[in-house]
Amino acid sequence: MPGKEFLDPCVDCRDADAALTLRRRRLCKDCYIKFVSYKVFKRMEKYRLNREGPRNTRCKLLFPLSYGLSSSVLLHMLHCQLETQRSKPHAPPGFDLEVLIIEPSTMYSVPQYDAGFDLVQKLFPLCTFTRISFHDIFDLVPDIQETMSHFAGDEFKDDTSKTNTERLSAFRSSITTATSKTDVDRALVTRLIVAFAKKTDSLAIIWGDSDSRLAAKTLANVAKGRGSSVTWQVADGMSPWGLEFNYPLRDLFTAELRDYAGFFPELTDLIIPDEQLSENTLTKNLSIDELMMRYVLTQGEKYPGVMLNVTRTANKLDVSQMPSNVSHCTFCGASMMNEQHNEFCYACARSRPALSS
Ligand SMILES: [Zn+2]
Ligand SMILES: [Zn+2]
Repeated sequence: MPGKEFLDPCVDCRDADAALTLRRRRLCKDCYIKFVSYKVFKRMEKYRLNREGPRNTRCKLLFPLSYGLSSSVLLHMLHCQLETQRSKPHAPPGFDLEVLIIEPSTMYSVPQYDAGFDLVQKLFPLCTFTRISFHDIFDLVPDIQETMSHFAGDEFKDDTSKTNTERLSAFRSSITTATSKTDVDRALVTRLIVAFAKKTDSLAIIWGDSDSRLAAKTLANVAKGRGSSVTWQVADGMSPWGLEFNYPLRDLFTAELRDYAGFFPELTDLIIPDEQLSENTLTKNLSIDELMMRYVLTQGEKYPGVMLNVTRTANKLDVSQMPSNVSHCTFCGASMMNEQHNEFCYACARSRPALSS
């Protein structure tokens, strides 16, 4: 019997009309989801098989969720993997996902997102969730108080009689330029997430950066003098914090993640659009990170291959090739090859309040 005729058949299954174009191929919804999910599945293989760990024990992975497009889509994909993994009786033990949320209202001027926290727990029941505040950094990273005081210099006095919220916001407002603010926030967030991952005995941190974000981060890091951190901030492998960093979305573009999210209304409900979290709208107030992200998003749509090349090249940087006896910046953890006697790396030093104005 001849098959059903389609006006615009999917090139993979030929059994449905195509819903959209993926890398010049017309695909139906199911084949699209399968294609993008497989890219992530391959990247998680190592943890699914967990060959290095003890037999029959799941390894624990920490997953920071920002409610942004990339991390929400990645969580959705990984949860589907967990469902499949748990439904097979003889499958390898695989991994557990410990999801960490830094409540966005403690970082940006947005309302507290309780609805989001309720929704993720309902959508992804196979994961465990913890919600913390940005200012919990004082409890989770005990030496941060001292590091902040040194970093901010004499002008800044940390008043421990104040609440942690007030102390953190006093420190953040001592940083003057948009680039330095984003840079410092990013270093603090990493410290907080790493501390939580260690507290929960996680083996690795699974970051939700898309290919576009990794390309933007690579370019921004070089522009900010953070070349030495490019390795662990965009490449898979060991970080200076003694935990593996992994970026399973590295083969997917932001536009592809947006299409994926479009197929799941529950994801659209959950995701906070990036624009809402970016307070500066005038180009002159944008940080280098935001500028690079805009550049990659606009140029990446025109020349996707170029952006892919940026991250592929950066991923070839091998963390294990770094000499092990170098000292590390006390603020951001970057290795300091030629700055052995300094406390802060070149890039962090440039973000310090006394110097960044
Ligand atoms: Zn199809
Ligand atoms: Zn540093």
